[in-house]
Amino acid sequence: MAGIHHVTAISGKAARNFDFYSHVLGLRFVKKTVNFDDNGTYHLYYGDRVGYPGTVLTFFPWEHAAAGHVGPGQTQQTTFRVPTSSIGYWTHRFIEKGVVHEAVEKRFGEPILSFTDPDGMSLALVGVAGAESEPAWSAGLIPMEHAIRGFHGVTLMLDDGARTAAILTDVLGFTAAGEDGALARYRASEAIGGVVDIRAATGFAAGHQGRGSVHHIAFRAANDASQAAMAQKLTAEHGMKPTAQLDRKYFRSIYFREPGGILFEIATDDPGFTVDEPAQTLGRDLKLPPFLESRRKEIEAVLPELHATEAGS
Ligand code: ZN
Repeated sequence: MAGIHHVTAISGKAARNFDFYSHVLGLRFVKKTVNFDDNGTYHLYYGDRVGYPGTVLTFFPWEHAAAGHVGPGQTQQTTFRVPTSSIGYWTHRFIEKGVVHEAVEKRFGEPILSFTDPDGMSLALVGVAGAESEPAWSAGLIPMEHAIRGFHGVTLMLDDGARTAAILTDVLGFTAAGEDGALARYRASEAIGGVVDIRAATGFAAGHQGRGSVHHIAFRAANDASQAAMAQKLTAEHGMKPTAQLDRKYFRSIYFREPGGILFEIATDDPGFTVDEPAQTLGRDLKLPPFLESRRKEIEAVLPELHATEAGS
């Protein structure tokens, strides 16, 4: 059960973010809540049918955030899995929808279609042999056969990847899986969300976080006990100082800044997104944790509308 649990990024306008991920990429909107540490801001979650670990991309929409700039110490790209035969469909869709994208390239032998979201976040679709047999979810906007299957992985841009790689392999359940140019690949047991690539970027100017940047990457822990064992190992053998466990309602998390400067989280697989609403209506209502429920009216008043359309709601 090792791999990426979720990726959280910073966006601009919430409605534009919602429109892009729901209606252009066709992900399921699985949770509408607020940032537990900044209650006047949404925390929007997109994923598969139930937001299974490894499929969940989340956003803090900070409307006035300045644009970020990728550099060492940041996540350079977040990638999704689609069947190899779907790359043509998506290229055509991006042209039709005006999505900024690059020509299809090969990375580790697989076709990759890089593109950016409306906030400049670097994303890609990777054509994966066999992905056609992985579960897919579609609201009908994207034919089921071409739907995104969840994360392929992330690319970390690091000045020196050695200590980060040691944490991936020793604590987070990844194993070294070869190199392609400047990229070193690490793979976890799970196919969905099972790839971390480290791009050695010595001597590059530092990046800065902002709109379009990944805020943190969460890795999977099966339960509290395995999370505690990972925290113990991080402290004892890797000189990290993970936080105490925080209850994030849909998972329980610890956080630490890995040696390269990227914020990592370790999140439990349970209880998941159906803990406070049924699978059929995920994402429909604003969900608040108990400690914020008494302030619902005040919070709702400051959150912008998401303009759900028939097809995407
Ligand atoms: Zn997180």
